[in-house]
Amino acid sequence: MGNIISAKCKFCDFKTKFNYGGNKLDFQINCPVPAININTGQFEIINYKIEKNNSKYKFYSNKELKGNNENNYTLDNFDLKLNTKNNYCPKCKKHSLDFNIIAYTD
Ligand SMILES: [Zn+2]
Repeated sequence: MGNIISAKCKFCDFKTKFNYGGNKLDFQINCPVPAININTGQFEIINYKIEKNNSKYKFYSNKELKGNNENNYTLDNFDLKLNTKNNYCPKCKKHSLDFNIIAYTD
């Protein structure tokens, strides 16, 4: 149900790994989703179940952080969708961050 995703920028050296979506035991209370903290500009993994209306965070499911997905697949978790290609990079601030699934979690 959830995924472990690697994020890697095509232009700069920004890269990270994160959990996306809850697992079958906790998905009703825990749904980690990548986001930009608009106060610090940092990439953070935020529990969407708790913070979805917090204006401090812009989630990567928001079209403002998405670029051209080039007809690639999306990473879907209930009503959330992430593009796999050309997401906003918090370091170089280009739409050049790619997300790839590296593992599936229960
Ligand atoms: Zn970058």
